[in-house]
Amino acid sequence: MAMIECENCGTMYDESLDHCPECLSSVHETNDDGEECGGIFEPVSVWIKDKGRPELICRCQFCGALKTEPIEEDDNPVTIMSIASRPLANPPFPVERLQELTDLMGGQGDMSGYYRK
Ligand SMILES: [Zn+2]
Ligand SMILES: [Zn+2]
Repeated sequence: MAMIECENCGTMYDESLDHCPECLSSVHETNDDGEECGGIFEPVSVWIKDKGRPELICRCQFCGALKTEPIEEDDNPVTIMSIASRPLANPPFPVERLQELTDLMGGQGDMSGYYRK
């Protein structure tokens, strides 16, 4: 099993992993147009998907592309916690999250008991 060196922090890790287990970064090899990018995918947030499986949200420092990746068992929990607790000054998915919030609030605002009077 081959090892590769993390371009971000220099940790050696198994090349079959999607990202560095220490800093959770990876390299953006090709963009959507199939062109080489070479930028570092930096983890910007952690979110829990439908089935409760946490995923990393990564953003390419070079071209700004976004991707999500499942968190692996070997990933450094300290790094995950520090990402998860980071304030989201620049939410990667503002539209989807806002829509979810709006739906939640819409459900609450429907309070049927209120109209029954
Ligand atoms: Zn690293
Ligand atoms: Zn990129």
